[in-house]
Amino acid sequence: MVSQAPDLIEPRIGWRAWDVVDLDGALRLCSLAFWTVWLPRSETAATCRRTHVEAPLAGLPWHEAPRESCSCGIHATRTAARTLEFSRGVPRKPDAVHRIVGQVSLWGRVVECEDGWRASRAYPARLHVPAAGTGRRLAPGALAAARLPIETVARGLADYGVPVDIVEAATTGELGRRLRAGPARPAGYSR
Ligand SMILES: [Zn+2]
Repeated sequence: MVSQAPDLIEPRIGWRAWDVVDLDGALRLCSLAFWTVWLPRSETAATCRRTHVEAPLAGLPWHEAPRESCSCGIHATRTAARTLEFSRGVPRKPDAVHRIVGQVSLWGRVVECEDGWRASRAYPARLHVPAAGTGRRLAPGALAAARLPIETVARGLADYGVPVDIVEAATTGELGRRLRAGPARPAGYSR
C-alpha cells in the first residue's frame, strides 16, 4: 500500500524541554527559545527565523527549515541530560506556570547535529512533569516550583493525548537520574 504521507519517515525520538503557559485557562507547551506554542493534536512545523534581509547577510538564500548550514528546525537532543543542561541556561518565561521535559517525535526533514537533530515536523511523544520545588530550594540545580498544583499541570497537558508522567525531583540532577532510570517509551499519537 502506498503511503498517503510521502514525507513521513519513521520518526526519530529526541528530548526537549518546554515552558508550560496558560492560554485562557488552557495549558499549552511553549518552546524555550521562542514564543512558539505547540498545539494539541496538531503537528508543529519549523520555519527559519532568519528574515529575507538576514538570510542573505548570513550567506544563505531563503530556505525551508531545517537547512544543514543554518541552525533552524525544531531542535531535540539525543539524551535527557543534554536537554536538561540546555534548559538550565534558559530562564523560565516570566508568566510560565512550569517547565517540563519530554520526548518528542521528529519527522519530515531531519538534520543530524552535534547534540541531536533539527526537524521540520514534531509532536510530543511523552511528557515528564517534575514535581519540583517542594524542598531544598537552595540545592544546586534546584528546579523552579510549578505555579499550579502539579496534578493540575499534568491534567492540563493530557490535552496532547500522549502519556504524562509526574516525576518527583527537586533538582536537575535528580530529574536526570529519574529519567535515565525510566524506560524511554514513546507513545502512539496518530493523526
Ligand atoms: Zn534557517
